[in-house]
Amino acid sequence: MSKIFVTRKIPDSGINLLRDKKYDIAVNSFDRTLTSREIIKYAKGADALLCLLTDKIGGEVMDGIGTQLKIISNYAVGIDNIDMEAAKTRGIMVSNTPGVLTEAVAEHTIALLFAVAKRIAEADRFARAGKFKGWAPMMFLGSNIAGKVLGIIGLGRIGGEVAKRMRDGFGVKIIYYDQTRNKEMEEALGIEYFDLETLLKMADFVSIHVPLLPTTKHLISEKELKSMKPSAYLINTSRGPVIDEKALVKALKNKTIRGAALDVFEFEPKFSPGLAKLNNAVLTPHIASATEETRGKMSELAAQNIIDALSGKKPKNLVI
Ligand code: NAD
Repeated sequence: MSKIFVTRKIPDSGINLLRDKKYDIAVNSFDRTLTSREIIKYAKGADALLCLLTDKIGGEVMDGIGTQLKIISNYAVGIDNIDMEAAKTRGIMVSNTPGVLTEAVAEHTIALLFAVAKRIAEADRFARAGKFKGWAPMMFLGSNIAGKVLGIIGLGRIGGEVAKRMRDGFGVKIIYYDQTRNKEMEEALGIEYFDLETLLKMADFVSIHVPLLPTTKHLISEKELKSMKPSAYLINTSRGPVIDEKALVKALKNKTIRGAALDVFEFEPKFSPGLAKLNNAVLTPHIASATEETRGKMSELAAQNIIDALSGKKPKNLVI
């Protein structure tokens, strides 16, 4: 009987798909991330590992689980937590959960954009603290959104959905930068391509949607932040290390840019010193895909990738 280890409780729908196959399934019973040593201990002998973006899966974890390990099914679209080279050399398949979280993450990105431009979190804190003494003409002046320029960095699934919704729903002009031009999307959405530096100079809002790779680590650092307009906002729902967070804190303090809204952090779950004290930053704890519908679908997709791999089929979302 194939053995599966799931590194943390996820919605039942996917687990039930695995149970229907009569696999031997074990789910981490603690409500916390396991250490590498614990993953090895509990997953030893497993044919499939269903893991999360918070689990660092390197070669030593793969070896510890054993040579029978056929698939690492990541419950995320990003796969930066897995040592892909190590998996490749060991002939272990790696799969992810793309597509089913696109809408939820695009919606969260837009929610963050509005939150920072309309100063929602800051105003909420103010109101709850009993500081609201009546309407005032100069209180909490934010920024309009209609007619502004949104620069998308990484026009993939999520970047594309954000672009579509912001253009169609809110009358925003969209420009983008990507490592590859997508002429089809340019025509379909009527959007323009620019190199990164030009995009940063032109945009009123910059939203990041690239995967975390050696080429995207600190893609936005001091120099790039200085290229942005002082009135501009930066939104990141991709991965924390894409932004040099220390440089961002400095830029927000010095008003090099007007504000930032972040769902992901360079040293997650920690914030860089000073970040949490800044009123011009909106912070959410990596919840962009956290809707009941989406997490259920991610669970099913992660399970289906395992079922395919263990029954000799090519998993739909095979990365390698
Ligand atoms: P995708 O692969 O569809 O899109 C990524 C885009 O980035 C592609 O168009 C690609 O060409 C571009 N790109 C890659 N490397 C680049 C580089 N060096 N320079 C410029 N462009 C580059 O992926 P997606 O489904 O849109 O997801 C994007 C990322 O969002 C994921 O990799 C993941 O890290 C992140 N994400 C975060 C959450 C969250 O909870 N906050 C949820 C889902 C996804």
